[in-house]
Amino acid sequence: MSTAQQSPTEAVRRYQLFIDGKWVDAESGKTFTTPNPATGEPLAEVAEADAADIDKAVAAARRAFEGKWSRLSARDRGRLLFKLAGLVESHAKELAALETADNGKPIRETTLFDLPQVAENFEYFAGAATKIEGETIPVPGQMFNYTLREPLGVCGQIIPWNFPLLMAAWKLAPALAAGNTVVLKPAEQTPVTALELGKLIQEAGFPDGVVNIVPGYGETAGAALAAHKDIDKIAFTGSTEVGKRIAHAAADNLTKVSLELGGKAPNIVFADANIEQAVSGAMMGIFYNQGQVCCAGSRVFLHERIKDEFLDRFKERAGKVKVGDPMEQTTLMGPQVSEEQLNRITGYVDVAREEGATILAGGGRPDLEGNLQKGFFFQPTIFSEVHNKMRVAQEEIFGPVASVITFSDEEDLIQQANETIYGLSAGIWTQDITRAHRFARAIKAGTIWINTFNVMNAASPFGGYKQSGYGREMGRHALELYTQVKSVWVDLSGKPMGWYGK
Ligand code: ADP
Repeated sequence: MSTAQQSPTEAVRRYQLFIDGKWVDAESGKTFTTPNPATGEPLAEVAEADAADIDKAVAAARRAFEGKWSRLSARDRGRLLFKLAGLVESHAKELAALETADNGKPIRETTLFDLPQVAENFEYFAGAATKIEGETIPVPGQMFNYTLREPLGVCGQIIPWNFPLLMAAWKLAPALAAGNTVVLKPAEQTPVTALELGKLIQEAGFPDGVVNIVPGYGETAGAALAAHKDIDKIAFTGSTEVGKRIAHAAADNLTKVSLELGGKAPNIVFADANIEQAVSGAMMGIFYNQGQVCCAGSRVFLHERIKDEFLDRFKERAGKVKVGDPMEQTTLMGPQVSEEQLNRITGYVDVAREEGATILAGGGRPDLEGNLQKGFFFQPTIFSEVHNKMRVAQEEIFGPVASVITFSDEEDLIQQANETIYGLSAGIWTQDITRAHRFARAIKAGTIWINTFNVMNAASPFGGYKQSGYGREMGRHALELYTQVKSVWVDLSGKPMGWYGK
């Protein structure tokens, strides 16, 4: 194949940009290095796209959209997506290993969660391609009115580093099912698996230019894509701060936007909860993926009656989480993705101390051996005695750091749970079915988990209330983000229009 390929024995992997079905260097000739966050050693050297490459990629996507891709049937688009899902499954082992090497998340997670979900999303939207339908409208008179649901055109997609391949799948699958073409910009921290996916997209037989993959930095490649005049839509997942910048850039061209942004989810444990179940849910909520999850249960609300018992168990269990080499099957927590993220988390430990919170567990770097000493590891951490107005309860830390808040009154709890700029998700732990559903309504968030946490499926919509963004990914709602409706009127009478008739 192309020069994007390389020998498995080569120490540092090399990748080019994927534009118009070809692997090419950046126009500037520049490259950047993505490290393995477990050791700090270089993993891959990657061509660095900037505005000139984005222009090329958008032009290729436009040609593909107006050309062959637009003439393909929905069934054929679906078949290509099915083929891609199959290729992801047959390459799952190596993709999981590469994702772990690039991001630092444990191999157990990439193998059991990320890769199966990637395949599931391509499969779900493969099936959806042939179910995108218009409607007939019962208008009065001798008129026939129907709608066509059409693709938007060229979609820019900017994705984050926390679930690199899965975020690519969430965005690519519905866009392609609906007949759009794409320019995808992976995060500079984790470009590798999206580029590997490019190889599978080629192998599956997607026409040239339908998917273009252009890794580069946010301020250059990302900003150029968001502000591009010839894209029809920009989809973004990442921080709320950057989401606002993208919305501003898109506003100048009135580009359609969907945003999946930050969170500070309440994970609420009532006095009647199954405590063991709720402790495991709190762990899943904040330690999964090193806490680098936009829907993380980062504010743990505990009823005062069970607070002590819960915290004893939570602390004990947090201390037992195996932090270390993410390639080991038994590791539950790998390194944070980058030194920048590690420093950010460390900074919040100081903030918590200054604000008067108690550091109940963790709070520092674990003692690891060998080349892992240079990795960006942080301990599973619990801050207790937190008040909802503290910075550690309001700002997204994006690390394995739980802020524990105690409550006694339900009305006050609802107010505190909703007292955040975010609204992505929430967890509720109780045996009382009426209270569970009452709270599911009362919490302002796009996903509510009752006696569970972080559960997802390609068929179920995901997205935010408030500053957690707008638009819903996955499920049939995602197709709304990638289609537009055309209304077609037909006069069935065959007569001149009455208005200007004789
Ligand atoms: P984080 O703060 O968690 O690293 P970001 O929101 O900065 O997340 O990054 C998510 C994605 O947005 C990445 O692909 C990044 O390159 C991109 N990005 C960052 N800044 C900008 C920007 N100004 N314009 C467009 N994309 C950006």
